[in-house]
Amino acid sequence: MQAIILLGAPGAGKGTVAEDLKRQIGIEHISTGDMLREAIRAGSPVGLEAKAFMEKGELVPDDVIIRLVRERLLAGGSDAWYMFDGFPRNVHQAELLDAMLPECGGALTHVFLLEVPRDLIIRRISNRRVCRQCGAVYNLIGMRPKVENVCDLCGGEVYQRPDDNEATVNNRLDVFNRETAPLVEYYRRKGLFVQIDSSDRLDTEKAILQHLGRA
Ligand code: AMP
Repeated sequence: MQAIILLGAPGAGKGTVAEDLKRQIGIEHISTGDMLREAIRAGSPVGLEAKAFMEKGELVPDDVIIRLVRERLLAGGSDAWYMFDGFPRNVHQAELLDAMLPECGGALTHVFLLEVPRDLIIRRISNRRVCRQCGAVYNLIGMRPKVENVCDLCGGEVYQRPDDNEATVNNRLDVFNRETAPLVEYYRRKGLFVQIDSSDRLDTEKAILQHLGRA
């Protein structure tokens, strides 16, 4: 099993890029944010525990996240190929992932940082809409669903995430700078780190595919 990581602030485009690459090269998309939103929708104990943290833009406790990721990895086959989006979110999670991957017969090959200027992040997030059912990501600026509030892919309801409001976004950006940004140094030291200007989605995808030898 092989894995790559997409790092980046909220609104950097990780989810959109991961879904596009999944369609293009068949890499599985593991978004801990999507898994948590699904747990909330299902009313599971994990969802109940995670909800308050997510509403404030705080990180959900590491043990909850690691349990979710471990279950997902153990359910996959030995030839699986994963793209993590929104995980790991801090150095502790990265260390736990390092310990978990060999257990699952896996290895990390690349860590991509998607870099976007802060004003573009705020613009993207305030215009972001997602499908409640399949998680597809839309944007009122350039990627509207064909029918208002209806997902092109599955017909589900397209809505605005409750944590995509200005106050929560500012906190999520602070949390990113404090907790997640140190991962750049962590992965640079391991020789896995690649920085990508992610202002344009297609250029971002092209750059990632080149690094993966799939261009
Ligand atoms: P995202 O969909 O990646 O923007 O995540 C939305 C929210 O889910 C975050 O603001 C956190 O509250 C929570 N979350 C997602 N992934 C993680 C993670 N790896 N560790 C802790 N909290 C997470």
